[in-house]
Amino acid sequence: MMAEWVLNKAASEMLDYNGSGQSVMEMSHRSAVYDNIIKETEALLRKTLNIPDNYKVLFLQGGASTQFSAIPLNFMNKNNKADYIVSGQFSKKAFKEAQKYGDVKAIASSEDKNFSYIPKITRADIREDADYVYICYNNTIFGTTFNYIPDTGDIPLVADMSSFILSQPIDVTKFGLIFAGAQKNMGPAGLTVVIVREDLLGNARPDTPVMLDYKTLADNDSMYNTPPTYSIYMHKLVLNWLNDQIGGIEKMAEINAAKAKILYDYLNSSKLFVATAEKEFRSLMNVCFVTGDKELDAEFCKKATENGFVNIKGHRSVGGMRASIYNAMPTEGIEKLVEFMKEFENEHK
Ligand SMILES: *Cc1c(COP(=O)(O)O)cnc(C)c1O
Repeated sequence: MMAEWVLNKAASEMLDYNGSGQSVMEMSHRSAVYDNIIKETEALLRKTLNIPDNYKVLFLQGGASTQFSAIPLNFMNKNNKADYIVSGQFSKKAFKEAQKYGDVKAIASSEDKNFSYIPKITRADIREDADYVYICYNNTIFGTTFNYIPDTGDIPLVADMSSFILSQPIDVTKFGLIFAGAQKNMGPAGLTVVIVREDLLGNARPDTPVMLDYKTLADNDSMYNTPPTYSIYMHKLVLNWLNDQIGGIEKMAEINAAKAKILYDYLNSSKLFVATAEKEFRSLMNVCFVTGDKELDAEFCKKATENGFVNIKGHRSVGGMRASIYNAMPTEGIEKLVEFMKEFENEHK
Protein backbone atom coordinates (compact mmCIF):
# COMPACT_ATOMS: atom_id res chain seq x y z
CA MET A 1 0.00 0.00 0.00
CA MET A 2 0.89 3.63 -0.40
CA ALA A 3 -0.50 6.17 2.04
CA GLU A 4 -3.42 8.03 0.49
CA TRP A 5 -1.83 11.31 1.54
CA VAL A 6 1.18 10.47 -0.67
CA LEU A 7 -0.96 9.51 -3.66
CA ASN A 8 -3.10 12.63 -3.32
CA LYS A 9 -0.06 14.87 -3.06
CA ALA A 10 1.49 13.25 -6.14
CA ALA A 11 -1.79 13.64 -8.02
CA SER A 12 -2.04 17.32 -7.09
CA GLU A 13 1.50 17.94 -8.38
CA MET A 14 1.26 15.65 -11.41
CA LEU A 15 0.88 18.35 -14.08
CA ASP A 16 2.76 21.20 -12.46
CA TYR A 17 5.33 20.63 -9.75
CA ASN A 18 5.58 23.62 -7.44
CA GLY A 19 4.94 26.21 -10.14
CA SER A 20 7.69 24.85 -12.41
CA GLY A 21 5.24 24.30 -15.25
CA GLN A 22 6.42 20.70 -15.51
CA SER A 23 5.55 17.30 -14.16
CA VAL A 24 8.41 15.72 -12.18
CA MET A 25 8.39 13.03 -14.89
CA GLU A 26 9.33 15.65 -17.49
CA MET A 27 12.25 17.23 -15.67
CA SER A 28 15.88 16.85 -16.64
CA HIS A 29 17.63 15.04 -13.80
CA ARG A 30 20.32 17.72 -14.02
CA SER A 31 17.93 20.68 -13.75
CA ALA A 32 17.96 22.95 -10.70
CA VAL A 33 14.37 22.10 -9.85
CA TYR A 34 15.11 18.36 -9.83
CA ASP A 35 18.37 18.85 -8.00
CA ASN A 36 16.34 20.35 -5.14
CA ILE A 37 14.08 17.29 -5.07
CA ILE A 38 16.88 14.71 -4.86
CA LYS A 39 18.83 16.76 -2.29
CA GLU A 40 15.74 17.20 -0.13
CA THR A 41 14.99 13.47 -0.37
CA GLU A 42 18.48 12.57 0.78
CA ALA A 43 18.37 15.09 3.63
CA LEU A 44 15.01 13.73 4.79
CA LEU A 45 16.21 10.12 4.68
CA ARG A 46 19.36 11.06 6.60
CA LYS A 47 17.28 12.79 9.25
CA THR A 48 14.71 10.01 9.48
CA LEU A 49 17.25 7.19 9.89
CA ASN A 50 19.85 9.29 11.68
CA ILE A 51 22.48 8.41 9.05
CA PRO A 52 25.95 9.63 10.09
CA ASP A 53 27.99 11.92 7.80
CA ASN A 54 30.56 9.21 7.05
CA TYR A 55 27.90 7.23 5.16
CA LYS A 56 26.92 7.81 1.53
CA VAL A 57 23.32 7.52 0.40
CA LEU A 58 22.84 6.22 -3.14
CA PHE A 59 19.61 6.28 -5.17
CA LEU A 60 19.91 3.51 -7.76
CA GLN A 61 18.00 1.36 -10.21
CA GLY A 62 18.02 -2.40 -10.68
CA GLY A 63 16.11 -3.50 -7.59
CA ALA A 64 17.41 -5.08 -4.42
CA SER A 65 18.47 -8.14 -6.43
CA THR A 66 21.10 -6.18 -8.37
CA GLN A 67 22.83 -5.58 -5.03
CA PHE A 68 23.26 -9.37 -4.68
CA SER A 69 25.98 -8.97 -7.36
CA ALA A 70 27.19 -5.46 -6.51
CA ILE A 71 28.05 -6.40 -2.92
CA PRO A 72 30.56 -9.18 -3.71
CA LEU A 73 31.98 -7.17 -6.62
CA ASN A 74 32.67 -4.16 -4.38
CA PHE A 75 33.46 -5.85 -1.07
CA MET A 76 35.03 -9.26 -1.73
CA ASN A 77 38.28 -7.52 -2.31
CA LYS A 78 40.81 -8.51 0.34
CA ASN A 79 40.75 -12.26 0.92
CA ASN A 80 38.09 -13.10 -1.62
CA LYS A 81 35.93 -14.56 1.14
CA ALA A 82 32.48 -13.73 2.46
CA ASP A 83 30.22 -15.26 5.11
CA TYR A 84 26.44 -15.42 4.67
CA ILE A 85 23.61 -16.16 7.08
CA VAL A 86 20.95 -17.89 5.04
CA SER A 87 17.62 -17.11 6.71
CA GLY A 88 15.23 -17.13 3.77
CA GLN A 89 14.79 -17.07 0.04
CA PHE A 90 16.38 -13.67 -0.58
CA SER A 91 19.54 -14.39 1.43
CA LYS A 92 19.77 -17.73 -0.34
CA LYS A 93 19.63 -15.97 -3.69
CA ALA A 94 22.26 -13.46 -2.55
CA PHE A 95 24.45 -16.32 -1.29
CA LYS A 96 24.21 -18.15 -4.61
CA GLU A 97 25.03 -15.04 -6.60
CA ALA A 98 28.09 -14.22 -4.45
CA GLN A 99 29.48 -17.72 -5.05
CA LYS A 100 30.31 -16.65 -8.60
CA TYR A 101 32.94 -14.30 -7.23
CA GLY A 102 34.85 -16.09 -4.51
CA ASP A 103 34.94 -18.32 -1.46
CA VAL A 104 31.49 -17.84 0.01
CA LYS A 105 30.34 -19.75 3.06
CA ALA A 106 26.89 -20.13 4.60
CA ILE A 107 27.95 -19.87 8.24
CA ALA A 108 24.39 -20.50 9.43
CA SER A 109 21.06 -21.43 7.88
CA SER A 110 17.50 -21.92 9.07
CA GLU A 111 16.47 -23.94 6.04
CA ASP A 112 16.22 -27.06 8.26
CA LYS A 113 12.93 -25.71 9.64
CA ASN A 114 11.70 -24.01 6.47
CA PHE A 115 13.18 -20.67 7.55
CA SER A 116 10.79 -20.30 10.49
CA TYR A 117 13.50 -18.85 12.74
CA ILE A 118 16.69 -16.74 12.63
CA PRO A 119 19.97 -18.54 13.32
CA LYS A 120 21.97 -17.17 16.25
CA ILE A 121 25.61 -16.59 15.40
CA THR A 122 28.57 -15.42 17.44
CA ARG A 123 32.01 -14.06 16.54
CA ALA A 124 33.37 -17.63 16.62
CA ASP A 125 31.15 -18.59 13.67
CA ILE A 126 32.65 -15.89 11.42
CA ARG A 127 35.83 -16.61 9.50
CA GLU A 128 38.49 -14.17 10.71
CA ASP A 129 39.51 -13.33 7.15
CA ALA A 130 36.00 -12.88 5.75
CA ASP A 131 35.73 -9.65 3.75
CA TYR A 132 32.16 -9.11 4.97
CA VAL A 133 29.22 -10.81 6.65
CA TYR A 134 25.81 -10.75 4.96
CA ILE A 135 22.32 -10.92 6.45
CA CYS A 136 18.76 -10.32 5.33
CA TYR A 137 17.28 -8.39 8.26
CA ASN A 138 13.59 -9.11 7.63
CA ASN A 139 12.63 -12.20 5.68
CA THR A 140 9.69 -11.01 3.63
CA ILE A 141 8.53 -14.42 2.46
CA PHE A 142 8.81 -16.29 5.76
CA GLY A 143 7.84 -13.46 8.11
CA THR A 144 10.88 -13.51 10.39
CA THR A 145 13.11 -10.67 11.61
CA PHE A 146 16.51 -10.60 13.27
CA ASN A 147 16.02 -9.83 16.96
CA TYR A 148 19.74 -9.10 17.33
CA ILE A 149 22.49 -7.47 15.28
CA PRO A 150 25.31 -10.00 14.78
CA ASP A 151 28.61 -8.85 16.30
CA THR A 152 31.09 -9.02 13.44
CA GLY A 153 33.88 -7.00 15.07
CA ASP A 154 35.82 -5.11 12.41
CA ILE A 155 34.34 -7.12 9.57
CA PRO A 156 31.69 -5.05 7.74
CA LEU A 157 28.12 -6.24 8.21
CA VAL A 158 25.94 -5.96 5.11
CA ALA A 159 22.16 -6.06 5.47
CA ASP A 160 19.27 -6.39 3.06
CA MET A 161 16.59 -4.25 4.74
CA SER A 162 14.13 -4.14 1.84
CA SER A 163 11.12 -5.10 3.96
CA PHE A 164 12.32 -3.55 7.23
CA ILE A 165 13.69 -0.11 6.47
CA LEU A 166 11.63 2.83 7.83
CA SER A 167 9.47 0.50 9.96
CA GLN A 168 11.46 1.41 13.08
CA PRO A 169 14.70 3.23 13.96
CA ILE A 170 17.98 1.41 13.20
CA ASP A 171 21.52 1.96 14.41
CA VAL A 172 23.19 2.58 11.05
CA THR A 173 26.67 2.59 12.64
CA LYS A 174 26.40 -1.16 13.25
CA PHE A 175 26.43 -1.77 9.48
CA GLY A 176 28.95 -1.33 6.68
CA LEU A 177 26.18 -1.29 4.10
CA ILE A 178 22.40 -1.31 4.20
CA PHE A 179 20.34 -1.66 1.05
CA ALA A 180 16.65 -1.81 0.21
CA GLY A 181 14.39 -2.07 -2.78
CA ALA A 182 12.01 0.85 -2.29
CA GLN A 183 8.78 -0.93 -3.13
CA LYS A 184 8.02 -2.31 0.34
CA ASN A 185 8.21 0.73 2.62
CA MET A 186 9.89 3.60 0.76
CA GLY A 187 7.79 4.24 -2.31
CA PRO A 188 6.99 2.64 -5.65
CA ALA A 189 9.21 0.13 -7.47
CA GLY A 190 12.11 1.42 -9.53
CA LEU A 191 14.30 2.83 -6.77
CA THR A 192 16.92 1.00 -4.73
CA VAL A 193 18.54 2.75 -1.78
CA VAL A 194 22.08 1.95 -0.65
CA ILE A 195 23.56 3.39 2.56
CA VAL A 196 27.28 2.67 2.66
CA ARG A 197 30.17 3.61 4.94
CA GLU A 198 32.59 5.81 3.02
CA ASP A 199 35.81 4.03 3.99
CA LEU A 200 34.54 0.82 2.33
CA LEU A 201 34.42 2.47 -1.10
CA GLY A 202 37.06 2.41 -3.78
CA ASN A 203 38.21 -1.22 -3.71
CA ALA A 204 35.85 -2.81 -6.20
CA ARG A 205 37.18 -5.67 -8.28
CA PRO A 206 38.66 -4.39 -11.56
CA ASP A 207 36.03 -6.23 -13.61
CA THR A 208 33.12 -4.56 -11.76
CA PRO A 209 30.62 -3.10 -14.24
CA VAL A 210 30.79 0.67 -13.89
CA MET A 211 27.07 0.86 -13.05
CA LEU A 212 27.67 -1.39 -10.03
CA ASP A 213 30.73 0.39 -8.70
CA TYR A 214 29.63 2.18 -5.52
CA LYS A 215 32.56 4.60 -5.69
CA THR A 216 31.58 5.82 -9.17
CA LEU A 217 27.94 6.09 -8.14
CA ALA A 218 28.83 7.95 -4.93
CA ASP A 219 31.32 10.31 -6.63
CA ASN A 220 28.57 11.28 -9.06
CA ASP A 221 25.89 11.78 -6.38
CA SER A 222 23.80 8.96 -7.88
CA MET A 223 23.88 10.74 -11.25
CA TYR A 224 26.48 8.77 -13.18
CA ASN A 225 23.50 8.13 -15.40
CA THR A 226 19.81 9.03 -15.08
CA PRO A 227 18.52 7.98 -11.67
CA PRO A 228 14.90 6.81 -11.20
CA THR A 229 13.72 10.40 -10.90
CA TYR A 230 10.00 9.90 -10.33
CA SER A 231 10.47 7.07 -7.80
CA ILE A 232 12.92 9.28 -5.87
CA TYR A 233 10.30 12.05 -5.80
CA MET A 234 7.68 9.56 -4.55
CA HIS A 235 10.13 8.43 -1.87
CA LYS A 236 10.39 12.06 -0.78
CA LEU A 237 6.62 12.25 -0.42
CA VAL A 238 6.65 9.04 1.64
CA LEU A 239 9.27 10.62 3.93
CA ASN A 240 7.17 13.81 4.17
CA TRP A 241 4.19 11.66 5.15
CA LEU A 242 6.14 9.61 7.68
CA ASN A 243 7.60 12.67 9.38
CA ASP A 244 4.76 15.21 9.15
CA GLN A 245 1.58 13.11 9.04
CA ILE A 246 2.64 10.14 11.19
CA GLY A 247 4.98 12.10 13.46
CA GLY A 248 8.35 10.46 12.81
CA ILE A 249 9.93 7.03 12.79
CA GLU A 250 9.55 6.39 16.54
CA LYS A 251 5.84 7.00 16.25
CA MET A 252 5.75 4.79 13.14
CA ALA A 253 7.46 2.00 15.11
CA GLU A 254 4.85 2.28 17.89
CA ILE A 255 2.01 2.09 15.39
CA ASN A 256 3.62 -0.89 13.62
CA ALA A 257 4.09 -2.80 16.88
CA ALA A 258 0.48 -2.18 17.91
CA LYS A 259 -0.76 -3.17 14.46
CA ALA A 260 1.12 -6.48 14.37
CA LYS A 261 0.06 -7.24 17.95
CA ILE A 262 -3.61 -7.22 16.96
CA LEU A 263 -2.97 -9.93 14.37
CA TYR A 264 -0.50 -12.04 16.39
CA ASP A 265 -2.72 -11.90 19.51
CA TYR A 266 -5.57 -13.32 17.51
CA LEU A 267 -3.31 -15.96 15.89
CA ASN A 268 -2.08 -17.01 19.37
CA SER A 269 -5.66 -17.57 20.50
CA SER A 270 -7.07 -19.05 17.29
CA LYS A 271 -7.90 -22.75 17.08
CA LEU A 272 -7.86 -22.65 13.27
CA PHE A 273 -4.99 -20.40 12.22
CA VAL A 274 -1.37 -20.87 13.27
CA ALA A 275 1.48 -18.39 12.80
CA THR A 276 4.40 -20.11 11.07
CA ALA A 277 7.33 -18.04 12.43
CA GLU A 278 8.82 -18.79 15.85
CA LYS A 279 7.63 -16.24 18.39
CA GLU A 280 10.85 -14.39 19.16
CA PHE A 281 11.58 -13.78 15.46
CA ARG A 282 8.14 -12.73 14.27
CA SER A 283 8.15 -9.94 11.72
CA LEU A 284 6.08 -6.82 12.31
CA MET A 285 5.86 -6.31 8.54
CA ASN A 286 5.01 -9.76 7.15
CA VAL A 287 2.70 -12.01 9.15
CA CYS A 288 2.64 -15.61 7.84
CA PHE A 289 0.01 -18.12 8.93
CA VAL A 290 -1.64 -21.39 7.87
CA THR A 291 -4.64 -23.50 8.80
CA GLY A 292 -2.69 -26.72 8.37
CA ASP A 293 -5.02 -27.77 5.54
CA LYS A 294 -4.06 -26.67 2.02
CA GLU A 295 -7.64 -26.75 0.73
CA LEU A 296 -8.86 -24.65 3.61
CA ASP A 297 -6.00 -22.19 3.01
CA ALA A 298 -7.09 -21.92 -0.62
CA GLU A 299 -10.71 -21.38 0.42
CA PHE A 300 -9.67 -18.69 2.89
CA CYS A 301 -7.59 -16.87 0.27
CA LYS A 302 -10.45 -16.98 -2.24
CA LYS A 303 -13.01 -15.64 0.25
CA ALA A 304 -10.56 -13.03 1.52
CA THR A 305 -9.97 -11.75 -2.01
CA GLU A 306 -13.73 -11.61 -2.61
CA ASN A 307 -14.01 -9.49 0.52
CA GLY A 308 -11.36 -7.02 -0.57
CA PHE A 309 -8.30 -8.43 1.23
CA VAL A 310 -6.00 -8.66 -1.77
CA ASN A 311 -2.52 -10.21 -1.89
CA ILE A 312 -3.15 -12.36 1.20
CA LYS A 313 -1.91 -15.58 -0.40
CA GLY A 314 1.48 -16.70 0.92
CA HIS A 315 4.50 -16.84 -1.37
CA ARG A 316 4.46 -19.91 -3.58
CA SER A 317 7.47 -21.37 -1.74
CA VAL A 318 5.65 -21.35 1.63
CA GLY A 319 1.94 -21.66 0.86
CA GLY A 320 -0.64 -20.56 3.40
CA MET A 321 -1.27 -16.89 3.95
CA ARG A 322 0.83 -13.78 4.41
CA ALA A 323 -0.45 -10.42 5.54
CA SER A 324 2.10 -7.80 4.53
CA ILE A 325 1.37 -4.91 6.83
CA TYR A 326 3.89 -2.29 5.82
CA ASN A 327 3.93 1.28 7.14
CA ALA A 328 1.08 2.49 4.95
CA MET A 329 -1.37 -0.23 6.10
CA PRO A 330 -3.73 1.48 8.53
CA THR A 331 -4.68 -0.14 11.86
CA GLU A 332 -8.23 -0.35 10.56
CA GLY A 333 -7.06 -2.73 7.80
CA ILE A 334 -5.72 -5.20 10.40
CA GLU A 335 -8.84 -4.91 12.57
CA LYS A 336 -11.02 -5.71 9.56
CA LEU A 337 -8.80 -8.66 8.62
CA VAL A 338 -8.96 -10.13 12.13
CA GLU A 339 -12.75 -9.69 12.15
CA PHE A 340 -12.93 -11.54 8.84
CA MET A 341 -10.64 -14.32 10.10
CA LYS A 342 -12.80 -14.77 13.21
CA GLU A 343 -15.89 -15.16 11.06
CA PHE A 344 -14.10 -17.71 8.90
CA GLU A 345 -12.99 -19.60 11.98
CA ASN A 346 -16.56 -19.68 13.32
CA GLU A 347 -17.81 -21.07 10.02
CA HIS A 348 -15.20 -23.84 10.10
CA LYS A 349 -15.46 -25.14 13.66
C1 LIG B 1 11.40 -7.77 -2.26
C2 LIG B 1 12.74 -8.14 -1.71
C3 LIG B 1 13.86 -8.33 -2.55
C4 LIG B 1 13.79 -8.25 -4.03
O1 LIG B 1 13.66 -6.96 -4.43
P1 LIG B 1 13.74 -6.54 -5.99
O2 LIG B 1 13.74 -5.05 -5.91
O3 LIG B 1 12.52 -7.13 -6.63
O4 LIG B 1 15.00 -7.11 -6.55
C5 LIG B 1 15.07 -8.63 -1.95
N1 LIG B 1 15.18 -8.76 -0.62
C6 LIG B 1 14.12 -8.60 0.19
C7 LIG B 1 14.29 -8.76 1.67
C8 LIG B 1 12.87 -8.28 -0.32
O5 LIG B 1 11.81 -8.14 0.49
